[in-house]
Amino acid sequence: MGLFHRLHELIIKESPFEDEANGLLFLIRTVLIIWMPFYLIMGIYSLISGLGMQPFIVFAAGLVIYGGVFAETYTRRSKHCLYYLLISATIITGLLTIVFGWRASFQNFVYINFLILWYDPTSGSKKKAISSIFMAISMCVISFFTPFGQTILTPGTVPHYVVVYSNIILFSICLSIVAYYFCNQYIESEHKLREYNSKLKQIAETDPLTKLMNRRSAEKEIQEVVKESTSLKYMFCLAIGDIDFFKNVNDTYGHEAGDYILQTLAEEFKNFMKARGFVARWGGEEFLFVLPRVNGDEAMAILDELRHQIKEKEFVYKDNTIKLTMTFGVEEFSKITGVDKTIEEADKKLYLGKQSGRDKVVF
Ligand code: GH3
Ligand code: MG
Ligand code: MG
Repeated sequence: MGLFHRLHELIIKESPFEDEANGLLFLIRTVLIIWMPFYLIMGIYSLISGLGMQPFIVFAAGLVIYGGVFAETYTRRSKHCLYYLLISATIITGLLTIVFGWRASFQNFVYINFLILWYDPTSGSKKKAISSIFMAISMCVISFFTPFGQTILTPGTVPHYVVVYSNIILFSICLSIVAYYFCNQYIESEHKLREYNSKLKQIAETDPLTKLMNRRSAEKEIQEVVKESTSLKYMFCLAIGDIDFFKNVNDTYGHEAGDYILQTLAEEFKNFMKARGFVARWGGEEFLFVLPRVNGDEAMAILDELRHQIKEKEFVYKDNTIKLTMTFGVEEFSKITGVDKTIEEADKKLYLGKQSGRDKVVF
């Protein structure tokens, strides 16, 4: 396992609390994982470059405290870890600023803490506003205690450049990381919203039993076909198909068997209509067929083929083999009478088919 992989695993270990927003914990750990080696290196560098014991002690204290906060992220709530981090980092960066001077830029890390708090989705606006005040006061206090003029860093010396530039680079990295987390949070919620919307749309438009289009969505689709057929000048047909003596199926084999048949039939219809148009569940055991680019005679021939296919099919449910027939009423769409009237006519023809013996297509 590579070092980066191991660090990544350390960062993305989920909180032991189920209701916890893990993003904040991950962000705290990421920042700490960068700060800790930096403090270690800077502590050692302070010693070997002759900056003295004072900065070494602050860096060492910072390393120990950040290590503690990092360990706490695996056992405590993210909010507690956030406050530990806010308080400890403000004190440590404050001390480093006082030791190294304002120019060394350690005080900038107070802004990073502040941004981390704003990232927390569970903190209210009031807390966030208070944290802004806390940040401003902290910066004022740090500034007040930071001496003017020369500190342990002599301008123009190597330690001066090392401390100042490494701080600028580290601050840029931390800022980029926080920005990355903010951006990711935004993208993630956008993605989730889109996912939920499409799921909701699917639920609203689909019949739960057969997974076919429901009546409402079929009505919308028909309007699209009407528009297209008008602009492209083609005709289309609407048909209603109804299962013959379906009540008997329910009475003889049970309602579950009836449901199974409706589902199997829906699958059969969908496959049959794939290149021909579309089908929707219109009512209980009634289905609406939309056949664009065909006239009444052609639609009748197509549905007769389907009628035949259904008649030949054996529906096997548990130990029973069930056979069925269907009756269809077909009507050509007419712009003058409109969709509702066309469906009404198809329904009337279906009724005629039922009256004249069922198992037929009437146009
Ligand atoms: P006909 O040939 O005249 O159409 O006779 P039929 O028995 O099919 O007609 P009827 O309208 O009297 O009965 C329709 C039956 O369809 C009654 C109802 O219980 C059944 N049905 C409607 N929706 C469902 C459903 O979702 N599941 C099941 N299992 N049965 C359903
Ligand atoms: Mg029926
Ligand atoms: Mg019916």
